[in-house]
Amino acid sequence: MRIQRHFAFQPCWSCFLDYFCRARRNTHENLFGKVKGVAPGKSYPPPRASNMIVPRKRRASRSNLTTGTRALNILKNLLASAITSDVGLRLLAPLRSRCLTVVFLHRFSVPDLGVPGHDPRILGNHLEYLRRHRYRLLSVGDLLNQIDDAKPLSKNALVFTVDDGYADFVQVAAPVFEAYDCPVTVFLITDFVSGRIWNWFDQVEWAFLHTDRSSVGMEFGGESVRLAWPNRLDRFGASDEFVERLKRVRDGEKGALIRRLGEALEVDIPSATPQQYAGMNWDDVRRCALSGITYGPHTVTHPILTQVDDGRADTEIFESWRTLTAQTDAAVPVFCYPNGTALDFSSREKSSVVRAGMRAALSTIEGSLESSSAGVSVPDRLAIPRFAYVENKAAFVQIASGIEQKKMRLWRKSPPPGE
Ligand SMILES: [Zn+2]
Repeated sequence: MRIQRHFAFQPCWSCFLDYFCRARRNTHENLFGKVKGVAPGKSYPPPRASNMIVPRKRRASRSNLTTGTRALNILKNLLASAITSDVGLRLLAPLRSRCLTVVFLHRFSVPDLGVPGHDPRILGNHLEYLRRHRYRLLSVGDLLNQIDDAKPLSKNALVFTVDDGYADFVQVAAPVFEAYDCPVTVFLITDFVSGRIWNWFDQVEWAFLHTDRSSVGMEFGGESVRLAWPNRLDRFGASDEFVERLKRVRDGEKGALIRRLGEALEVDIPSATPQQYAGMNWDDVRRCALSGITYGPHTVTHPILTQVDDGRADTEIFESWRTLTAQTDAAVPVFCYPNGTALDFSSREKSSVVRAGMRAALSTIEGSLESSSAGVSVPDRLAIPRFAYVENKAAFVQIASGIEQKKMRLWRKSPPPGE
């Protein structure tokens, strides 16, 4: 099979910059030095109202930081490491509830193809940590049973989920999860796995990465927007901003806007999926199922469900479940909303999910499920919260151990269970 020129491995400076920048883009550092995984087309803040979009600023390099800021960062990292050390966790144990936490991942690093994503060595180290500290690693099916059993957790529990179903899951991540006997559920975009489409947010990124232009003007719902990328590294920021804009337009306009983007950027967006953005196929799905991997529906084409009409929303939910169950016996009746923020599903989608026979649905609203004597508390089983998987060890341990949930409760970022 001929590999497209753009995606063959080219060990040149520009490819190195692409890979470096995209790998860095998968991590965002917050106030406490936590590094949050951000997936393609996922969970970015909404676009600004301004009609001139300045691409999102990259993290300041260490050399740009003032001495005071550097010292503060060092202190924050030391504090996070102390809190998440074995001694710190033991001291804080009386202050935190046992938690059942669902984490989500998307893509895994394939340097030869320039695919940025999670580093399998870091994932392996984290799984080793969880096993050594005797966390319960549950499948999504176990999660449903734990909720229905109404029994308290005997220890902290984690559920790993992977969204969309890219080929890099099979090549890179599945062997790591298998090596640690860690259950994982992959939520599949069924037309993507069937090879009928490639993802619309990937098409946008491809267009920005392959244009010779350095700015573009577009109309979004009557609003003129100008995007500019003064250097190669800012292309990713411009692409992200464009994707965020697309998430907030009616789905019918989305395809036309992507076509217009291609024209404006003077690139021909390929109709076939470039290798870098390829999905699993159904043979991969069934082969991985033999080692215990399970699957859930994640729509047919990954639209933002609140941007489609009633009939299309039903079709995306019902058809993805129908196709999934026709292709594999390893399907679990749990739906995963595309993008998954509070803006991306409503009572209409929840009703459709129930009518399709789902027993629960997953969001990307941050949070853990807390355990009490009455069992694991689930405020809304049709909007189960998840945390983005993070590679930073201290941040990961904070999420897994329930410290992050406690912090959110203290800061009132999340309502207490049952409200
Ligand atoms: Zn998705």
